[in-house]
Amino acid sequence: MAILLVEDEDGIINFVRRGLESAGYQVLVANDGIDGLAMGLSTDVELVVLDLGLPGIPGEEVLRRLRQRRPTVPVIVLTAKDAVADRVANLEAGADDYLIKPFSFSELLARIRARLRTAGQIRADTIAVGDLILDLAARTVSIDGTVTELSAREFTLLETFARNPGHVLSQVQLLDRVWGYGFDGSSNVVEVYVGHLRRKIGAARIQTVRGAGYRLVEP
Ligand code: CA
Repeated sequence: MAILLVEDEDGIINFVRRGLESAGYQVLVANDGIDGLAMGLSTDVELVVLDLGLPGIPGEEVLRRLRQRRPTVPVIVLTAKDAVADRVANLEAGADDYLIKPFSFSELLARIRARLRTAGQIRADTIAVGDLILDLAARTVSIDGTVTELSAREFTLLETFARNPGHVLSQVQLLDRVWGYGFDGSSNVVEVYVGHLRRKIGAARIQTVRGAGYRLVEP
């Protein structure tokens, strides 16, 4: 994972890059808006520091297009423009934060750390297995962007599988974790609910391992 710096001024590039690298971050640099947008779309980039005055595509436009494709990546805008109206416009266009030039490195670092902490919390609320994404806060599942409704029990069952992707879970383990210890082990409730899930998320995603149990796979 890396921080992408989109900036055309060598002095600022060197000062920010040196600082971030000595703070332990991997840094990628784009010198214009075209490269900045292309590189910002990579999922290897976990945060973008974006100058607004850029050759190629202006920073405002990079921000707008980046937001359409990667709505959750944190973006900190660097701007020489000190007008309040510009700041408000930037935040409305999807910047998470902004710094007015000239800024101190320690201030930039503090903003980056704050944004990465928040982003980490958002990530911890989802579990992804390939294109299947569980939103633990909303209790919904989406596949390739399409949200599918699950009952509370179905969601808990799928969450149990998703926390152990590729691992075989036995009927007894699933009963304990999803229905609670002591649930009647002779019941076929696991089989029934696995059937429900297969209908909703696609049969190929949950494999039966004969005599052992079930596992969640990426089809
Ligand atoms: Ca510039």
